[in-house]
Amino acid sequence: MASRLIERYMRGAYLPHIWCAGCGNGIILRDVVQAVDNLRLEKRDTVFVSGIGCSSRAVGYLDFDTLHTTHGRAIAFATGIKMARPELKVIVLTGDGDAAAIGGNHLIHAARRNIDLTVVVLNNNIYGMTGGQFSPTTPIGDFSTTTPYGGIDPDFDIPALAQAAGATYTARGTAYHAAQTTKLIEAAILHEGFSVVECVTTCPTYYGRKNHRGNAVEMLKWQRDNAIPVAQARNLPREALEGKIVYGELWRCQRPEYTRQYAAIIERAGGKKQ
Ligand code: SF4
Ligand code: MG
Repeated sequence: MASRLIERYMRGAYLPHIWCAGCGNGIILRDVVQAVDNLRLEKRDTVFVSGIGCSSRAVGYLDFDTLHTTHGRAIAFATGIKMARPELKVIVLTGDGDAAAIGGNHLIHAARRNIDLTVVVLNNNIYGMTGGQFSPTTPIGDFSTTTPYGGIDPDFDIPALAQAAGATYTARGTAYHAAQTTKLIEAAILHEGFSVVECVTTCPTYYGRKNHRGNAVEMLKWQRDNAIPVAQARNLPREALEGKIVYGELWRCQRPEYTRQYAAIIERAGGKKQ
């Protein structure tokens, strides 16, 4: 990360970070920080919230108001902050297990409400911190500590799940496509409503090792060679997309945002308008 960004936005006393050498989480964290810098978000107006897991450690390194909460509950905490202080930008950093397994209910209900949160899901396709167990996004047939003969659970498409539940902005980026991912995070922050950006990241220590994906550089090269821009993917048959990463802005629509509706209810009930 450029030294200017580190000095401006990171808690130096908490560095170095805990991530393994070659982990993609640092790339995604840089994308998030770059997006915040590009948008000139003020620290006093921006809150980061995370759950538990390797990627959730990210908020500890950010020099903002941050909450490192309990497993799967980041979106619930973020909802509370946004309801109390709707003027704040509230950004959730979460992993695939945190967001879609333990926190799956919070994800779908926040999407249903269309509350104005930005959720960045760092998807490494496995539980890293707890020892490499399969997660809701481990591709079917792939290996993990708990699926040594290959998994039989179909994997979630997190942006599609969020869209089906009511999210009004969804996108997917990768660790390799850092510049594009930064722009997707920026768009999600600017969008008023529930926004989900899945960032496919690399875990050479568990997912890569268990699935013979090579070292960190080889995993990034795999992303380069197997990611397809969404505009191109729309013209391809379904079978051509098997095992590929479709990246870019996937879905965007407008519908009433939850905290605005809540403020209107308070006013209708004779309370103080926020
Ligand atoms: Fe990153 Fe995987 Fe190491 Fe966790 S276990 S820090 S996700 S490489
Ligand atoms: Mg994970």
